[in-house]
Amino acid sequence: MSTERADVTKCRSRALVTGASSGIGAAFAERLAQDEYDLVVVARDRARLEKLAAELRKRHGVEVEVLSADLTRDADLSLVENRIAGDSRLAMLVNNAGFGTAGAFARLDPDREEEEIRLNVLALVRLTRAALPGMIACRRGAVINVSSMAAFQPGPYNATYCATKAYVNSFTEALHEELRGTNVKVQALCPGFTRTEFQKRAGIDVSSLPEFMWMSPESVVDASLEGLQSSEVVLVPGLANRAVAALAGTVPRSVSRRLAGKVLRTQFQKK
Ligand code: NAP
Repeated sequence: MSTERADVTKCRSRALVTGASSGIGAAFAERLAQDEYDLVVVARDRARLEKLAAELRKRHGVEVEVLSADLTRDADLSLVENRIAGDSRLAMLVNNAGFGTAGAFARLDPDREEEEIRLNVLALVRLTRAALPGMIACRRGAVINVSSMAAFQPGPYNATYCATKAYVNSFTEALHEELRGTNVKVQALCPGFTRTEFQKRAGIDVSSLPEFMWMSPESVVDASLEGLQSSEVVLVPGLANRAVAALAGTVPRSVSRRLAGKVLRTQFQKK
């Protein structure tokens, strides 16, 4: 490596993206590499991460470190926390890894429900806690917590998932106030239906949903990073999603949750 190239590498900011092996996380990794961040990519599937890393290094000339970890496991989570806490160049944390379960709660596997809370909530909280002191000390940085439109109201037959995302929004909004004056930004990114592996992994049939309700992971990421510039704390990407979110806000909660129950029952209860 030439001296000039070594100097550039030393100055570049780093971003850590969880769940970077597919979907929204992979799109964040691609876009941040394009924006010249060095990266740490985290997920369980090492082979997929290595492939992504090789492509990003080749396309964008950035450093990409692969960290294979199951964030529902304490030991793996500690590993990632330690990686974050010791990194003075970390300027962006994207807490994106997450999954959903669907079906009548009383019949769902309790261990899987616990894993969902561990990944969607506990890992996000611990990694944010690991990142913030360094960012505050440097007076720069951002944490993007990938939430969901599901955060805005309880979801019968999708109860744990919606509750984890409501936690993410509440947590992120509270941190935003705590971080005033620090120059460190936080964002709860609330996508609607996005074309990734999410629905398949959750075992949800979404084949009847109209095209206008879908977004690509790339456009979700573009909206998130644009919103970060203007410090939007709760970011709903896409016009259709924003219209639904605004409408949901005008309906009494007792009505919206009942309605949601009727719709989701047909969609999810078979599980
Ligand atoms: P996805 O394609 O299924 O990606 C999920 C990512 O999380 C994968 O990289 C997966 O990688 C990783 N992951 C899963 N379990 C993990 C674990 N135990 N430890 C570490 N990493 C794990 O789905 P996606 O849509 O991109 O999901 C990203 C985020 O968007 C999630 O938080 C989801 O709730 C949110 N979201 C998605 C939608 C949608 O419609 N797609 C809508 C709203 C919100 P490995 O399998 O390799 O571990």
